[in-house]
Amino acid sequence: MFHNPSIMDIAEKYKPLWALDSASALLEWDMETYMPLGSSKPRGFTTAQVQLLRQERVLKLTDLVSRAEKLTGLNDYESGFLRVLRRELDFYTKVPPKLLEDIIRTATEGTVVWREARKKSDFAMFKPYLEKMVDLKRQEAEKLGYQGHPYNALMDRYEEGITTNDVDRIFSPLRSELKGVLTKVLSAGEFPTTHPLEEIDYEEAAMKRVNEDALKLLQMPEKTFRMDISTHPFTTGMSIDDVRITTRYEGKDFKASLYSTVHESGHAIYELQMDPSLEYTPLARSTSLGIHESQSRFWENFIGRSREFVGRIYPSLKANLPFVAQYNEADIYRYVNSVRPSLIRVEADEITYNFHIMLRYELEKKLIGGEMEVAEAPTAWKDLMEKFVGVRPSNDAEGILQDVHWSEGMFGYFATYSLGNVIAGMFYNRIQKDLDMKTAIANGELGRIKDWLKEKLHKYGATYSPKELQKRAFGETYNPQWLIKYLQEKYLT
Ligand code: MG
Repeated sequence: MFHNPSIMDIAEKYKPLWALDSASALLEWDMETYMPLGSSKPRGFTTAQVQLLRQERVLKLTDLVSRAEKLTGLNDYESGFLRVLRRELDFYTKVPPKLLEDIIRTATEGTVVWREARKKSDFAMFKPYLEKMVDLKRQEAEKLGYQGHPYNALMDRYEEGITTNDVDRIFSPLRSELKGVLTKVLSAGEFPTTHPLEEIDYEEAAMKRVNEDALKLLQMPEKTFRMDISTHPFTTGMSIDDVRITTRYEGKDFKASLYSTVHESGHAIYELQMDPSLEYTPLARSTSLGIHESQSRFWENFIGRSREFVGRIYPSLKANLPFVAQYNEADIYRYVNSVRPSLIRVEADEITYNFHIMLRYELEKKLIGGEMEVAEAPTAWKDLMEKFVGVRPSNDAEGILQDVHWSEGMFGYFATYSLGNVIAGMFYNRIQKDLDMKTAIANGELGRIKDWLKEKLHKYGATYSPKELQKRAFGETYNPQWLIKYLQEKYLT
């Protein structure tokens, strides 16, 4: 993989950094799963200290990296290695420690206030923290530097090279075409506004057996992967040989737990299938959040919500959840694919989910661009919700206060959820040329799909930027047409 002696030297010096990241991931996993509730203070201290150590260590590589950047004749792995390190160095050198500290402090305090504000549906409580955070994030964008819109600097942290021009180009047809699909689906009146299955309680142990059967179907490795429980499901990798997901058990509506499990497994498959030779290097990570999310969405929606997958999991549902017996396979397929305009992003269906993201993208762009005041945002939220999804929140808890992202300072993150859907659509289109996906799922041969994804994408880790990677795999980048085509075919025929 690496042949150039200077690159190999830097790679050797990078290994302790890899270990710090691996340790941080384990600390985070523990915090979200098994850490005693009262231990957050020392854990916060430890995590911050590890991050400081990391920053110090990365900055020590500055001269070596700058010299290596003048080398010629590097292979793709070596160029990718320098590209990833340059992004890390840029962040640490351009954003002053004082600003980073302010952001972390505002996030810590703001998140506590946000939780309370959401409970009381009281935006005024949270407003000063959001104002402070928007101001800090605008400063961060200035420090990082950008071309065009300041928001580009923030999105680039999560999705390298993406700009507002790109996202506008992607979202514009997506919005109008999906609006058309939604209007037709709703006027056909196929999906009820409530469903009895949402309200029937399940036993956690029984639901766990269904999820374990889903993991078997997905052929998740037993020795290098595990599943635990947390309030907000997530995936984390300590190494290519140690990837963990969590799922949630809310006690009712089996589909929330089942599809969380499949979604996170999609993230995990990406991390597990990176080439083992990338281990201990900064290339052993995803190249962007959009690419990462494309994998979770691909498994959750394109595979998990297909007729064939529902057919494979149906026997387990029936065996473990007695109430499912009243419904046949076709009923369950329709149930897990219900389309219903709703106010809450995390409960949204495959079509309307994208509108929830577009709304947040438009607001963030305006807030960071200084085109909108925080005070105007709650009403702007309601107006856009009505325009895009067709429903209007009656309060801020089900409007602007619903997501944790802004209190934590994650501006520039939201678009990657829909970019993930768009990229998943591209994989869905492209994979059909090489294998019959429906038959593979129906026969339980999901390993064939995993192998295909590994070759096209997973094995490279962060070697290529998200745009380069898409060009290699598809010959085009972020083309929304394939997602549109998939949703039209699924819901209109
Ligand atoms: Mg995800």
